[in-house]
Amino acid sequence: MQQRDISLCTKSSQAIMASKSKQPPHFLLIPLMAQGHLIPMADLAKLLAENGARVTLITTPQNTSRVNSLLSHPNQSQIQVLHLQFPPHQQSGVPQGCENCDSLPSLSLLPKFLSATSLLCRATEDLFQQLSPRPSCVVSDTALPWTIKVAHKFNVPRLVFYSFSSLHLLSMANLRAAGVIDKIMSASESEVIVMPNLPDKVEVTKPQLIFTLDAEFMELANEMNKADQASYGIILNSFDALEPNYLEEFKKATGSDKVWCVGPVSLCNRDTTDKAVRGNKAAIDEHECLKWLDRQQPGSVIYAALGSLCNIVTAQIIELGLALEASNRPFIWVIRQTEATKNQLEKWLSESGFEERTKERGLVVRGWAPQLLILSHPAAGAFVTHCGWNSTIEGITAGVPMVAWPLFGDQIFNERLIVQLLKVGVSVGVEKSVVWGGEEEIGVQVKMEGIRDAIEKVMDGDGNKEMRRRVRDLAERAKAAMEGGGSSHLNLKRLMEDITQAEAREA
Ligand code: UDP
Repeated sequence: MQQRDISLCTKSSQAIMASKSKQPPHFLLIPLMAQGHLIPMADLAKLLAENGARVTLITTPQNTSRVNSLLSHPNQSQIQVLHLQFPPHQQSGVPQGCENCDSLPSLSLLPKFLSATSLLCRATEDLFQQLSPRPSCVVSDTALPWTIKVAHKFNVPRLVFYSFSSLHLLSMANLRAAGVIDKIMSASESEVIVMPNLPDKVEVTKPQLIFTLDAEFMELANEMNKADQASYGIILNSFDALEPNYLEEFKKATGSDKVWCVGPVSLCNRDTTDKAVRGNKAAIDEHECLKWLDRQQPGSVIYAALGSLCNIVTAQIIELGLALEASNRPFIWVIRQTEATKNQLEKWLSESGFEERTKERGLVVRGWAPQLLILSHPAAGAFVTHCGWNSTIEGITAGVPMVAWPLFGDQIFNERLIVQLLKVGVSVGVEKSVVWGGEEEIGVQVKMEGIRDAIEKVMDGDGNKEMRRRVRDLAERAKAAMEGGGSSHLNLKRLMEDITQAEAREA
């Protein structure tokens, strides 16, 4: 059994435990320890609390600081963060001190990391038993299939939380249903594969799907899918009007009417501090960042950030830097801190004179950037993104057109959504998925000129005004969805009502 530590991280928890009045539903949130999963789940916690629910979020000690914003939230009296110790490395095989996917020395360790989380099952059950009031349901990340056991043991609904596009979810469901995975894996590298049974013709190639359909990954995905199918319902970080055809088809594929779009959840962060304090501690002071942005023209800044797991080689990162320089526009370049960036990239930065040459118009952020703050500033003009779903929906919500640079997994489909279906961005031109641990083999996929040209297309190319109009229109719809009476707000209320009724039926 795991060493368990349920020391309470907020004084508010006592208040939750003491209350005996008519009880609102109590949501037990169990996020995967990865930025792209933890951040939207923390936002979901805020939204639920704002709407009157009680929320307990479980994570590990190292990840607690990443959800600190919950503890200063106006509704913090309804939120508690509890922690469980991450399984010891002798047992898990995960390097000591790595409690989040972003601190793994190589993404090839991710399957091991995911398996290690299942060692938390017993400790989670013990914790569940001690919670008062008793949780009404478990909201689990899809990557934690073992949470279905916790929900079954205590006879509460398990809801799965996806921060994924409906296009990606439907594509995966259709691939499974059509039984074409083996056929795709035996296709030639250049063969164009039309994704089965989608509302639009969406084409991919084997090198783009190779990551998603890899045998080890498929095994994990099948286990996740089994738990998700046995779950009570689905919560999506999206809004009804974003990709309505795909959402409808996905609902049909699940065969359930219990699918609730409650996003974009990032919109619960309304003031500067909320926008700045998400995930890791930012490597730049939020006020310095705002001052810099205030000095730029509206819609002029290129923001380039490839997510929390960005796994491209240093030579490729340098091509991006050179493209930002060649764009002749103001830019913010976020460089993820890894062993390689700390050494090779720092060497290049100091020897090449890059920062000196671009200091009048460039801001290099080494580490974590306050992404939401930057994207929502009027100076933001384009977003060079890896198309992680959170970044994608944050870019759309900010009304900023994108240069789409997918790295792996669902990002390939998000790129199609951005470029082909919503037409709110252009493709940077990568043709292969980056396989975890196979980064060196992939090497440089897109040269400086290609990246520069894609930036130019978004900023000043033919059709760029129409692209901007479309993304701003979607941003308005996203905001309307989250306002009182908007679709996401109503869906959240319906979800809470549904869980309240389910609890009453079991009582
Ligand atoms: N993020 C951030 N600062 C950074 C990098 C990422 O605030 O420097 C946030 C970003 O706003 C998003 C999340 O981290 O909410 C990344 O999730 P996404 O799905 O885009 O990509 P992932 O990191 O999971 O690949």
